[in-house]
Amino acid sequence: MVDSLPLTRLDARLENSAVFTSKLINVIVSRNAFDVGDRCLLYGLPAMMNHSCGAKQTTAHILAKLGDAMLVRAERDINAGEELFHSYFPVSGSVRTRRSRSAAMDFECACERCSFECRLQGTAAAAVTTAASDEFATRLQPKLLGLGSLDSSALRTDDVESADRHWALLQDIQQTLRSVSVYYDPNWADKEVGWYLHLVLPLSTAGLWCCHVCYKSRGTEYDRASLLTVRCELLFQVVLAWEHTDLHGYDHLKNIHLLLANLNELDSCSANDLMAWKCTLRNTLAIAMEKSEHHKLDGDRWEVVDIRDLIASTTERCELAYCRRFGVDRHFLGLGTSCSRAAGLLQTLKL
Ligand SMILES: [Zn+2]
Repeated sequence: MVDSLPLTRLDARLENSAVFTSKLINVIVSRNAFDVGDRCLLYGLPAMMNHSCGAKQTTAHILAKLGDAMLVRAERDINAGEELFHSYFPVSGSVRTRRSRSAAMDFECACERCSFECRLQGTAAAAVTTAASDEFATRLQPKLLGLGSLDSSALRTDDVESADRHWALLQDIQQTLRSVSVYYDPNWADKEVGWYLHLVLPLSTAGLWCCHVCYKSRGTEYDRASLLTVRCELLFQVVLAWEHTDLHGYDHLKNIHLLLANLNELDSCSANDLMAWKCTLRNTLAIAMEKSEHHKLDGDRWEVVDIRDLIASTTERCELAYCRRFGVDRHFLGLGTSCSRAAGLLQTLKL
């Protein structure tokens, strides 16, 4: 907490020119102040934190009851001497989009995530994500918009035809996303997988919306287990993407909790006996497949795992995210018990 700022040098500059003064104040505020609710506040020490698009480690809270003190909370354990980062602007979108945001603040971001995406340029992995994004922008998204389902409250539970059309589109989206998954590099760290998945995040979220429509208006072209399987696959991708960009945001916590619930429900469906999951990179990425396809996989890259293993690793992931976000322990959280507090804690973020 800082209760005064070193204003001497600033005072000297402010006296020079009225025009320069207003420009200078704008620059100082836009680059250093924190937007908190409906206010924009300037604090000395927190303003010294540098920006990162992929390794945000802090969340700022303003404690009004303590005279507007600022509390900066670490989102994970930090080592002595490690630099802390904060996000100056929304970190969604490609490196080009983010660089235009950083250019507007007169710097070029060279954080770990931007460096990773720059290294990716010119590779087959980059080409396939660009092709998938183009496919989404030119064909899949217009198709989704054409289905006219973008208001959840307007969805009718008896609109079977609409559900079937969304299911067909969902197959298309899933196919495009799987073309991207072929190019995961087994040497990537988890965070690099997350950043890679973030490049096609609009496809995953559009797929999740289609799942939502199918859930609400039961179609005839699919059964519940198939729908759950696709939903789990898409949720895995979104959870991994946000784990390294928006670790403790409301949507991330909601999705990871939903993934766990869906995996458990899928486990209880007898139809799941026909499905297996291929995983790579220490079970961080999971893709559902028919068991009969096992022999088609190259064994070095993919590891077939039991859904119970996925549930165990997702439970761990969910506990870690909730415990760090809310400062509680796993026993208090009580995942998988009738008195789980996960939904209640999540609700507090909306208040
Ligand atoms: Zn960056």
